[in-house]
Amino acid sequence: MPITIRDVRTILTQPAGSRLVVVKVITSEPGLYGLGCATFTQRFHAVHAAIERHLKPFVVGRDVSRIEELFRMAMVHGYWRNGPVLNNAISGIDMALWDIKGKVAGMPVYQLLGGKCREGAAVYAHADGRDPREVVDNVRRFLAQGYRYVRVQMGGYGGKSDTMVRPDEAPAGAYYDPREYARRILGMLEYVRAELGDSVELLHDVHERLQPIDAVQFAKSVEHFGLFFLEDILAPEDLDWFARIREQCCTPLAMGELFNNPREWQPLVVARLIDFVRMHISQMGGITPARDVTLMANAFGIRTAWHGPGDVSPVGHAANLHLDLWAPNFGVQEWCRFPELVYEMFPGTPQVRNGYMYASDQPGLGIDIDEDLAARYPCSDEVEQWTQTRLPDGTPVRP
Ligand code: MG
Repeated sequence: MPITIRDVRTILTQPAGSRLVVVKVITSEPGLYGLGCATFTQRFHAVHAAIERHLKPFVVGRDVSRIEELFRMAMVHGYWRNGPVLNNAISGIDMALWDIKGKVAGMPVYQLLGGKCREGAAVYAHADGRDPREVVDNVRRFLAQGYRYVRVQMGGYGGKSDTMVRPDEAPAGAYYDPREYARRILGMLEYVRAELGDSVELLHDVHERLQPIDAVQFAKSVEHFGLFFLEDILAPEDLDWFARIREQCCTPLAMGELFNNPREWQPLVVARLIDFVRMHISQMGGITPARDVTLMANAFGIRTAWHGPGDVSPVGHAANLHLDLWAPNFGVQEWCRFPELVYEMFPGTPQVRNGYMYASDQPGLGIDIDEDLAARYPCSDEVEQWTQTRLPDGTPVRP
């Protein structure tokens, strides 16, 4: 008798800023369940409905061992496919099935993928600051804790300016000036390198804030700072511009947290226009497609750097980690440093020591959830402000 899916539960919780969506797949075997991340923090109600109303009736009663088949079928079952709401919902199920398979086998998920290539995954932390000096102070703090990779930003994603002139009666919003952003970041990187030399690997996230031609110039201007990578220099809408950047410089490029389907990386990977594939694994549909894209990238000498901020649940971070420990072409892992409450709510949340992230050797993803505690931190329905971004004249733009 195969073990089957008996029930699916969607858990919404907000222990530390981001609204998290976690899926619990309960099986016909008493006490056997799996967890998956389905976090789309800005549209969590939509993911919740997609799971409860559409996916649950579709998966209940199916054999838990057939992950590959279930993933493929779930992707096409709605006919219209490949959007962030449904992909996240499918990821919740997909990751939970990998977790279950590991528990049944008595092995951590990295073993199911092929076993470890490394004992710990090198992580990078986020240093911010209002000015370059504050950024340097924060980088130093991370170095003292053993981090060797640090992402440096200034004023969040940057470009906010006190001297910005807005038109009369400009509406409220998160304003930024793209060219001012570029100038300030160049100054900051100059200062950070002058203060810290080559004692640290630096990363920076442009967050698609530049016009394509300014992006080409920016990538070229930062080349001599020797970044480990420059992230999201272009928007997914402007992929053709990557070739222009490659013609001009060899700044390493990371791309892809906004992509939905593994095939969306294909043109960038095949033409070797980027250096790191950087997906938000739940946004893509879970561990199954992440495994596919890892191997595709590996064949072209491109490394992985999964998206790992606070709007990935600890279950999603655990999935990132198992892929990191296995992948022959692992690059670096983004890490958001959860507060103590999250460790209490999600026992088994990955631990970081001396700049490396470690997995427990528990079977499956090695992570659990205290549902009673999660219920005490319900998600707020507040309308997101930081994504209401505008240029100085008020034009709405990408955050
Ligand atoms: Mg990013």
